[in-house]
Amino acid sequence: MDLLNLDDQLTPEQRMVRDTAQGFVREHVLPGIGDWFEEGTFPASSLAPVLGSLGMLGMHLSGYGCAGLDAVSYGVACRELEAGDSGLRSFVSVQGSLAMFPIWRYGSEEQKAEWLPRMASGEAIGCFGLTEPDHGSDPAGMRTHAKQDVSGDWLLNGSKMWITNGSIADVAIVWAQTDSGVRGFVVPTSTPGFSAPEIHRKLSLRASVTSSLYFDDVRLPASAVLPGVTGLKGPLSCLSEARFGILWGVVGAGRACLEAAIDYAKTRVQFGKPIGGFQLTQEKLAWMAVSLGQAGLTALHLGRLKDAGELSPRQVSFGKLANVRAALDIARQARSILGANGVTLEYPVIRHMNNLESVLTYEGTQEIHTLVLGEALTGLPAYR
Ligand code: FAD
Repeated sequence: MDLLNLDDQLTPEQRMVRDTAQGFVREHVLPGIGDWFEEGTFPASSLAPVLGSLGMLGMHLSGYGCAGLDAVSYGVACRELEAGDSGLRSFVSVQGSLAMFPIWRYGSEEQKAEWLPRMASGEAIGCFGLTEPDHGSDPAGMRTHAKQDVSGDWLLNGSKMWITNGSIADVAIVWAQTDSGVRGFVVPTSTPGFSAPEIHRKLSLRASVTSSLYFDDVRLPASAVLPGVTGLKGPLSCLSEARFGILWGVVGAGRACLEAAIDYAKTRVQFGKPIGGFQLTQEKLAWMAVSLGQAGLTALHLGRLKDAGELSPRQVSFGKLANVRAALDIARQARSILGANGVTLEYPVIRHMNNLESVLTYEGTQEIHTLVLGEALTGLPAYR
């Protein structure tokens, strides 16, 4: 699949991460993923400790039991996990980039010590609540709010929607309006007034738990607020971290689809020869491989920029927009090559294709990332 020999560019340590993640997916995920997708389940309690023991949770963070690896290693791990399923990569992204990262970056010493080691080991699971029923692409209008009473405690009220890991989380990072602007709160999910019913009937990311969060006078100590950030730049910086994992991860989903299409094209015989011998099929495969190589190259370049401390949010938008679109195109082409078999869970393609529809939408829709690039090119913001 790697026509550009991109993996030759990886260091021995990065290749080790790749092989570890691949081995995990082969042993722990591929045997069950078709069933989990069909049943709409994700076995977090058995997978999280293994992921933790392999250093995959918060792997790009340092200290507090985290692996402290470089950005390219984190990207390569996301790529291999998402070759298994986007739901698995989503779990790891949310845990490491959306729940652990804000504590690590903006949290107090007590918050870090309390949560990060348990989250790195997979003992505690986190979620990230930004999106609300009426505020998705435009989180500035969020209604969830927190107010301090005379004792200094915070009272949190409101709701969030489409929250990955919500019903299985031990801790939620909740973004809420306060008198001083948007603040992040570290909310143990056992706090009275917190509830997180699961959202059912999704036809995408079925092997991933998605939930609503409700806060009904959730009383939190003064120390529950993340002290290091005020304003939307807090959640947006977390999203930038997670989008970096996505722009790598989808390369894995695209690769899995291309692999399935090539295998199928070489063995499925019609009109007396393998369908891979028809020029129309080869054209599809060739463009899938070209798109995959371009996406892989983008991911590697952005990973190196991140490791050099030079990656900007607009470059992350470039990567998320380009690579998710490429992966979705590859998945759709693969599905056509598999004919009727392309619509069953006997093959991974339709599962990846459906998953990628969510990946196109979450962490900034393709339209919002297009507007980011449009603004970068013209200097004219076109969001409203
Ligand atoms: P809307 O914002 O209502 O957008 C609808 C359409 O309008 C889109 O096509 C959008 O691009 C377009 N649109 C909106 N504004 C503009 C504009 N200015 N110009 C042009 N077009 C525009 N959120 C979390 O906080 N935490 C999570 O863990 C999380 N997990 C998720 C898991 C799944 C499976 C899914 C599907 C979503 C998840 N989300 C999560 C929510 C996700 O981030 C939002 O769905 C996303 O931000 C889009 O918001 P929306 O769905 O409300 O769509």
